[in-house]
Amino acid sequence: VIMSCPICFAASPVRAFVLPCTHTFCDRCAARFLWEKPACAVCRAPVISASPAWAVRNEPPESYAASILVVKHKGVTFEVDLDTNAHECAYERLSAMFQIPIDRLKLIQKGKLLPARGTPDLEDALRPGVMIQLMGSRLEQQLPPAPGPFRRIRLQMLALLALLSSWIRPVLSDPRAAVTSVLGGLALVARTGGLFLQSLVMRNHPRRDPDQDE
Ligand SMILES: [Zn+2]
Ligand SMILES: [Zn+2]
Repeated sequence: VIMSCPICFAASPVRAFVLPCTHTFCDRCAARFLWEKPACAVCRAPVISASPAWAVRNEPPESYAASILVVKHKGVTFEVDLDTNAHECAYERLSAMFQIPIDRLKLIQKGKLLPARGTPDLEDALRPGVMIQLMGSRLEQQLPPAPGPFRRIRLQMLALLALLSSWIRPVLSDPRAAVTSVLGGLALVARTGGLFLQSLVMRNHPRRDPDQDE
């Protein structure tokens, strides 16, 4: 299944997330708008959870051996998959998804700070399925533009560009045909205008019927 993130237009994001309203986003965009407000960026439906969208991801969960980290923020439960086959580090995964610099990211589970990344203690201490609390501030300047008026204008500009290019492309590929069609159009306009003027003149100065008596 091919999908593109409706916010950043990334095509077939490897780590897409699906919301209860069934709208799907790439992991960073989902993390970003849900971090600010627990509502879908497309339909505004309230969101309580975000789960891996296995249906649109490239790799099915069987070949992936994911352990699910349960990350809670502002009433939203993120089920973040961690590739255990690749020994993916929870710090790196959550830092990338939530755009929190890794040196400022603190993971707390059951009230305890998890061991530092890259240490063997981390995997032992991490309990998949047990809620993780994220501490740290996000890097806002690295994020794609927020949905809203700006995005609407951008979409309109893109649509306008597409329309313009659909007009310009035939002109570029066959200028003579385009000129002929424009001239044809102008001739039609001139002819219609001429007929209209003629009808006006006729109405104001009706032609006298020579056979009729005065
Ligand atoms: Zn995205
Ligand atoms: Zn939605």
